[in-house]
Amino acid sequence: MKLDIQMFAVPFRKISKTRKRMRRTHYKISENGTTKCPKCGADIRPHRVCSKCGTYKGKEVVKQEETTK
Ligand SMILES: [Zn+2]
Repeated sequence: MKLDIQMFAVPFRKISKTRKRMRRTHYKISENGTTKCPKCGADIRPHRVCSKCGTYKGKEVVKQEETTK
């Protein structure tokens, strides 16, 4: 019989509430739930195409219409 035992890394000590909370101080999102567009720096909703420059993950996916006409 083949033994299918997976070995996992097990934490040596319990992380205290304080250490856990200190680590999670970095898990914050911006106040109004937006992120910065990496291309134009505008405030955009996460996981959405930027409405200013029409890019997602740095690639243009929507052609921006000329607004200066
Ligand atoms: Zn943008």
